[in-house]
Amino acid sequence: MPSQIAIDYVREKAPLFKELSDRIWESPELGLHEVKSSAVLADALEADGFHVQRGLGGMPTAFTATYGEGKPVIGLLGEFDALPSLSQARGTPQHTPLVPGGPGHGCGHNLLGTAAAAAAMAVKRAIERGEVRGTARFYGCPAEETLVGKVFMVKAGLFSDVDCALTWHPGSTNGVWASSSLAMNSAKFTFHGISSHAAGDPENGRSALDAVELMNVGVNFLREHVPATTRIHYVITDGGLGPNVVPNRAEVWYYVRAPKRGDVEDIYARVLNIAKGACQMTDTTHDVRLLCGCYDTLANRALGDRMHANMTEIGAPRFTDDERKLARQLQGTVGETAVAKAIEQMRKHGIDVASRAELYEGVAPQWGYGEVGGGSTDVGDVSYVVPTAQVNTVTAPIATPGHSWQNVVAVGSSIGQKGMLFAAQTMATTCCDLMREPELVAKAKAEFKEAMANSPYVSPVRDVAEPPLNG
Ligand SMILES: [Zn+2]
Repeated sequence: MPSQIAIDYVREKAPLFKELSDRIWESPELGLHEVKSSAVLADALEADGFHVQRGLGGMPTAFTATYGEGKPVIGLLGEFDALPSLSQARGTPQHTPLVPGGPGHGCGHNLLGTAAAAAAMAVKRAIERGEVRGTARFYGCPAEETLVGKVFMVKAGLFSDVDCALTWHPGSTNGVWASSSLAMNSAKFTFHGISSHAAGDPENGRSALDAVELMNVGVNFLREHVPATTRIHYVITDGGLGPNVVPNRAEVWYYVRAPKRGDVEDIYARVLNIAKGACQMTDTTHDVRLLCGCYDTLANRALGDRMHANMTEIGAPRFTDDERKLARQLQGTVGETAVAKAIEQMRKHGIDVASRAELYEGVAPQWGYGEVGGGSTDVGDVSYVVPTAQVNTVTAPIATPGHSWQNVVAVGSSIGQKGMLFAAQTMATTCCDLMREPELVAKAKAEFKEAMANSPYVSPVRDVAEPPLNG
């Protein structure tokens, strides 16, 4: 049976956790700048008696909060960064930015960090009352959106004594998130040329922008000769000052993604060669800054099975008519076709959902082991150093897109908070299970060891001295 102490604690303290998630929602901060948001959680954990260590891994907003002693050591992963340009008024089913161009919590990380902290606090109660033994450690992980925080926390050795890690992500279903994600490198290529008057003496100029364009042409031809599952995208972050000046500086920012870390390494090496070629073609020089890289995600079935069992036992939240109404209004902004398509997708995965549902109220059967989703997450790097499992819970209506203003509304409402509390209970009970069932920890570790047999973890940022604190 899942720990009743943990379940009750999260329910009883729900007003506190709602307040913490609201405070983070109200002051959205971008990755590595989450000064207030990380302090909200670090201070709450410290006040609750956790031993808090701040400013870890070279990142002022990274911290851990530990309670308990001895084995097992269970990591509970939290995030709190927001997204640019998603500022949105609370409770409004129309796009209404509070601060034009300002950030907003379009990925629900206000809930993510709070639920993991709530889980850690709930486990503390179970330890105090002698129900379980071990160490619960909350990881305050900055900059998930830019795939930085956990990669550098892993590099700093902060997971070296951890036995298993648990996390979750806001979503529109309740269930284990077993599918993998894309490994990735994020790098900026800056080219340096010689300025001249674009009409008066272009022969004396060497255009850095030409190098960017030729690099992009080269990479676009590369696309045919990489595995079809590869994703490469770029934006030109500096293209010069005006057409009448030959640009002496130009910059392009690349993401290279693929289902396996090894493929990213191979393809990225070829992109580096293309950049060199672009320099030769244009008589320019360049430098490359790898901002970050991350692994794909390694699921752990032993942990996933237990999280699924606990979710089923605890039971998914039900929603009120008012919550349903808000959800339907938000769905109205994305259109009926999108809703129908999302429901069709859910049913394809065996999820039993009504044909015109606003909010999912069940627990989905497990699916996705061996499959790869479209995004990337730095949870991947944790999953390659310790057995890791994650779940999704319902914090938003079916079909409202991730990273959207609609999601900002949902995760700032009671819909999101219900999902947050469910996630906290799921993580807390699973953590308690791991603390009282050494055989479950052993099973998760054996599965992890087998999966890792031929592929030791090599940090994607092994050659990067510091996290990209200034972009
Ligand atoms: Zn996210």
